[in-house]
Amino acid sequence: MTQVEVWNADETLLHRVSVRHAVQMIWRGVATPVSVHESETLGPYQVPLVVRLVRYVEQKWLYSRTRATYSREGVLLRDRGQCAYCGRFAATTMDHVLPRSRGGATSWLNAVAACDDCNGRKGDRTPEEAHLPLRWQPYVPTRAQLRFARHATGTPTPHGKEPVT
Ligand SMILES: [Zn+2]
Repeated sequence: MTQVEVWNADETLLHRVSVRHAVQMIWRGVATPVSVHESETLGPYQVPLVVRLVRYVEQKWLYSRTRATYSREGVLLRDRGQCAYCGRFAATTMDHVLPRSRGGATSWLNAVAACDDCNGRKGDRTPEEAHLPLRWQPYVPTRAQLRFARHATGTPTPHGKEPVT
């Protein structure tokens, strides 16, 4: 089914809706067409491709839009290549704090940068079991934070092997 992009008043993409829904928005006067299908109509309206809200809508979920998408490279960037266990700037691997084999998620909050040594020592254990306390709590970075980190570390992204934990 064709989907119509709905833009906020500042022309940022909010979400997508059906053609019928978009036409109703135009009809109710809450949105105006930005671009339309030249040859297709629905009732008196040309079928919109993009509509823009007349009034700006505050985005309660702005946080989730600016949140960086999880990636292994992103974890190394977020932690600036510093091992979360020994603190050396020698991290080349990503470690699951709660091992995957124990139900740990592959997510920002369960991933830290780790050096080969610590990752190997920790193995399939929790930080407590391995007596390797975390030096910081993992967090969800924003895209801006990752961009800044990439700039600050001058990339290139480290190429470490994916650990088994
Ligand atoms: Zn280490």
